[in-house]
Amino acid sequence: MTDPLPQGNTIGILGGGQLGRMLAMAAARLGYKTHIYEPGAAPAADAAAAWTQAPYSDHDALRAFAAACDLISFEFENIPAAALDILSGNTPLFPDRRALEISQDRLTEKSFLTDLGLSTAPFAPIDNAADLAAALAVTGTPAILKTRRFGYDGKGQARIASPDDAQAALDDLQGAPAIAEGFVSFTREISVIAARGRDGSVAAYDPGENHHENGILATTTVPASLPANVKTDAILIASRILTALDYTGILGVELFVTPKGLIVNEIAPRVHNSGHWTQAGCAVDQFEQHIRAITGWPLGDGSRHANVLMENLIGTEIDSAPAHAATPGTQIHLYGKTDTREGRKMGHINRITGPA
Ligand code: AMP
Repeated sequence: MTDPLPQGNTIGILGGGQLGRMLAMAAARLGYKTHIYEPGAAPAADAAAAWTQAPYSDHDALRAFAAACDLISFEFENIPAAALDILSGNTPLFPDRRALEISQDRLTEKSFLTDLGLSTAPFAPIDNAADLAAALAVTGTPAILKTRRFGYDGKGQARIASPDDAQAALDDLQGAPAIAEGFVSFTREISVIAARGRDGSVAAYDPGENHHENGILATTTVPASLPANVKTDAILIASRILTALDYTGILGVELFVTPKGLIVNEIAPRVHNSGHWTQAGCAVDQFEQHIRAITGWPLGDGSRHANVLMENLIGTEIDSAPAHAATPGTQIHLYGKTDTREGRKMGHINRITGPA
């Protein structure tokens, strides 16, 4: 193992949201400075040593940012390729471009997963209306149309109950390149958060069980109610992906549980909302684990000491934070966002529900 990044060095983080904020706090605990790159509002900047507020098209700002950082990571996937060319020229980027580029495009991502021998929903690309019939022949109905890029929290998606709905669903996506996915009738949604260090070591957290409302994650519960063999399968799938990508950092893998086994929905090459429970459930949480992985520290082992219910505080749910604070065993995380909007993630709570 090489020596960890020296104390006082600077980690650049692309994206200034709550994930960047919690990464910055974890980095500070390990003796590092963080520098946020974010064109818009940046709750992460409150916890960082520096903030470059510039668009991803500002090549001078990108160059200056990269020169000021000892290594660069990111908290969201949609970083333009031209910006990555500049950023990763002289400063190491973790996870690397391959992981980012695979996960930026749902078609590339699904093809990567099936090439690895993992199960996904049946899928087919749709570039225009002429592709619809052939795609639905692959996926069957019901199906879901998803834009290939820039989708999050259920945005950029349209359901197709029967072939008659297909054209309207495609119109909803306004001409963006898309894929059709067969609808998976799952019994549960789970995710595995796992890390791979610069030396190739891997550590995974227990799978969490996720519940979504209006396409947005509402709660994650650990332990997930799953037989031990399914938990093991989920962790093996995540490890497989990490190794195939020669990955460095935290990866989130979202899975559907079905009677026929696990189906991979998507991967996120970053810390993940469904891993927030680790802040209360593990000695080393996902944020510290990511910083450890990219800076060359030994990884935490991922073991869990508590059962946890993570609840997102969405929109005006943040008003209930003081009541939660009065409840024993409840950890509160607020993101410092002053503008409360419907559907906006404002904070989360981790409720310890018992010993592991
Ligand atoms: P995604 O943006 O791909 O994570 O999708 C958001 C949510 O939509 C998922 O968490 C599932 O609840 C649901 N979903 C997405 N894809 C499928 C699918 N192929 N079959 C059934 N449900 C899906």
